[in-house]
Amino acid sequence: MKTNQLICPVCNGLEKKLLYCNNCNQPMRDGGKLSDYYDSYSPSLPPSVTADSTETDRICTHLYYCPICNNDFRYIVMKKEY
Ligand SMILES: [Zn+2]
Ligand SMILES: [Zn+2]
Repeated sequence: MKTNQLICPVCNGLEKKLLYCNNCNQPMRDGGKLSDYYDSYSPSLPPSVTADSTETDRICTHLYYCPICNNDFRYIVMKKEY
């Protein structure tokens, strides 16, 4: 087992974030981490995009969306060491 590995507690089901739509106050759904969307749109990112990987390695950006009004926003989760 590797130690001190940074993982996202939300992706791994260790934490659940309950967020409410600022538009209609309904509980929002976790659409998964945003990088999944980026991956599907652009499979090969130019090197400049991943240059600050030390910073982006520490955060996991999730896309939350409202099933009622389709409002969505990004929620940044700090990764933790396990
Ligand atoms: Zn995550
Ligand atoms: Zn809403």
